[in-house]
Amino acid sequence: MKMTKPQPSKSGPVPEIYARRESAVRSYARAMPRQFTRAEGVWMHDSAGGRYLDFLSGCSTLNYGHNHPVLKQALLDYIAADGITHGLDLHTDAKADFLDALESLILRPRGLEYRAMFTGPTGTNAVEAAIKLARKVTGRELIIAFSNGFHGMTLGALACTGNAQKRGGAGVPLSHVSHEPYDGYHGPDVDTAALLEQRLSDPSSGLDAPAAFIVETVQGEGGLNAASAEWLRRIAEIAKQHGALLIIDDIQAGCGRTGGFFSFEESGVKPDIVTLAKSLSGMGLPFALTLFRPELDIWSPGEHNGTFRGNNHAFVTAAATLRHFWANPEFVEGVRERSDLLEHRLARIAARHGLSTRGRGMMRGIDMGSGENASAVTTACFDRGLIIETSGPHDEIVKVLAPLTIDTDVFEAGLDILETAVGDVLSQSYGVAAE
Ligand code: PLP
Repeated sequence: MKMTKPQPSKSGPVPEIYARRESAVRSYARAMPRQFTRAEGVWMHDSAGGRYLDFLSGCSTLNYGHNHPVLKQALLDYIAADGITHGLDLHTDAKADFLDALESLILRPRGLEYRAMFTGPTGTNAVEAAIKLARKVTGRELIIAFSNGFHGMTLGALACTGNAQKRGGAGVPLSHVSHEPYDGYHGPDVDTAALLEQRLSDPSSGLDAPAAFIVETVQGEGGLNAASAEWLRRIAEIAKQHGALLIIDDIQAGCGRTGGFFSFEESGVKPDIVTLAKSLSGMGLPFALTLFRPELDIWSPGEHNGTFRGNNHAFVTAAATLRHFWANPEFVEGVRERSDLLEHRLARIAARHGLSTRGRGMMRGIDMGSGENASAVTTACFDRGLIIETSGPHDEIVKVLAPLTIDTDVFEAGLDILETAVGDVLSQSYGVAAE
């Protein structure tokens, strides 16, 4: 019989070693104090026999669920045949196969002729490479980033990130970035693209000529604000007019999370540089990529180096995601159907309680009005066996990041839990009072 309902365990046991040895920097584990043992699809299992629905998906790293059988088998076969695991940036069968699949299934059909640069394995490495390249190409220093943007934790990417708590960890000034208002930041009546255009065109505005704009089409960590297609097109034009490169950071919104492989597809914008990571490998293996127009490829050999550039195991599973999912129109149609279901269910919850929704595609959430309410909702969900997290400047948005492949009846069961949790929290029967 197919599982549709979670069965959480009541408590731990959580080994004491974490409190004794692991740094205080750990975060998700505090909200979900269990010892997880295995996972498949949308399900995670703990050491006490509990079973949880995962609507966090490694923060959009597991768009195809945990341990998808096709991806797992491709990797098992590769390891069994003693395929290369680590090869610096040497040519390998796995790398060539991934590049072939990327070219034929993703880039060419979309009219994109990008060069692929394998950076260090996490998203922030891809962002560092993107902004370094933009500065090198243009000879300019300033990057335009946007309010509520999140781009990573290393110093260059952190300078582009808005969140004060994260920025505070830097310990040095975060410079050479101007944070401009994102689409809708000043409400629906203020055209933030026009404001930026005005500032860049005014020789006395104090804003230097920028090397690049870096922007997320949907702000994953910053509260699921979704830029309109029109705003993105305007931003792309303004960047071009002012000699700046357009970097779309597709690390969270890409790989199908908003529908297309790239989140900017429906806007028609063709960025100069694109960053990808998270769900690129499809298995949760670390793997990041910076794509750019061939004319921008002015790197000299080894100029931007790293031991773990291109993870061969991730090449194998990433190529399998492209062939198994992205070559299949039914997959793309299925994502659209699930997105519609999510939109409809969240709109219903929001309407019932006078709340609002955010986001696009399979990257949507509910604004609970306060971080306390949102945190009470995620706790209430976890107690019922649903793993879900928050986002936004005050952590006030409860964010649904279910796998793109989730069965609709299981999806509905998880959304039922969310609906009940929101109702309980707002009727004050679950911890925190409604505002
Ligand atoms: N860019 C975006 C849009 C992200 O959402 C994230 C992570 O959440 C990053 C960059 C940084 O990626 P990583 O945590 O893999 O360094």
